[in-house]
Amino acid sequence: MKITNIRTQTLNAPLKTPFVTSLRRVNALEDLVVIIECDDGSIGYGEGAPTPQITGETIGSMIACIAFIKPYILGLEIEDFDTILMKVHTLILKNTTAKSALEIALYDLKSKASKLPLYRMLGGTQTKFSTDITISMGEINRMISDCHNAVALGYDTLKIKIGDNPSKDVERVSAIHKALDRNIKLRLDANQGWTAKESVSLLHALEKQDIIAEFIEQPVAADDIEGLKYIKKRVQTPLLADESIFSLKDARQLLEMQAIDYVNIKLAKTAGITQALELADLSKSFGVKCMIGCMLEGPISVAAGVHVASAKADIITMLDLDAVSLLASHPVATSIQFDESEITLSQDKGLGVSFE
Ligand SMILES: [Mg+2]
Repeated sequence: MKITNIRTQTLNAPLKTPFVTSLRRVNALEDLVVIIECDDGSIGYGEGAPTPQITGETIGSMIACIAFIKPYILGLEIEDFDTILMKVHTLILKNTTAKSALEIALYDLKSKASKLPLYRMLGGTQTKFSTDITISMGEINRMISDCHNAVALGYDTLKIKIGDNPSKDVERVSAIHKALDRNIKLRLDANQGWTAKESVSLLHALEKQDIIAEFIEQPVAADDIEGLKYIKKRVQTPLLADESIFSLKDARQLLEMQAIDYVNIKLAKTAGITQALELADLSKSFGVKCMIGCMLEGPISVAAGVHVASAKADIITMLDLDAVSLLASHPVATSIQFDESEITLSQDKGLGVSFE
């Protein structure tokens, strides 16, 4: 099964409502689909959405990265999987979303060649999951009504985006907490919007009101490792690292320092599936559970995330894979079915990708 061509095409899809975090505001998804063709007619699909503010990539840089790697892997056999992966990861540094898109397509091909769904090839058995949904940052009343709408659709875990205005964030979370039933779980994501000292005082203010979120995600700047440790020592609310962890090296440092309670794995940060699986194993060795998350990205890469969650179901206990649910429409079917918060994996081979 020889690789004969690698193509890319952009995928644009409108969002139901704008996606707003402390780092950005987005009205539509624009991501890149990678299509790898083989001499036996097999096709592998991958995908990635550049998030310039987080990974430093754009659609243009992803296309350039894939074009740079392409001549080195054309003509190779999928059976030489490790050699191909080594080339993807060593020919060029960083570019984690572009490499992830390539890796997803390669894993899709490999699992199709094995005649298995990807999760089964990776040793997974779980096929049913539930995900949270993101509540974009905004005015309190708007956030509360978005929360009510999500709960009405069946979501019992909401990820609340905060962090643009520390003085407003406690008020936002208190008001949302008050407006919802006690059985609704809140995850807070400040996207690096607070300082360490602010984080402690804001979380204490919430804890005094008996508001202990499932976790607070990435309250401080990605490189503020000491800040994470400072916060963890002082608050009850569990601490989850997102932008601080791209690589195994990043994770090992935080885990050894006991600076975090949870790791957020995203394929666009780990440069694909291989290091995501390794990151789950590393976290497990420290007794730390993981969430698998996604950028604002499309159905193929989100499907890959679900397959990884199945492969490491004992350690990836939380899913934040709502990106597809935020799209008003898109032209791709995959092996995952979304029924609002409930996700089901089918027995399609590979990632089960087809285009309308
Ligand atoms: Mg995050």
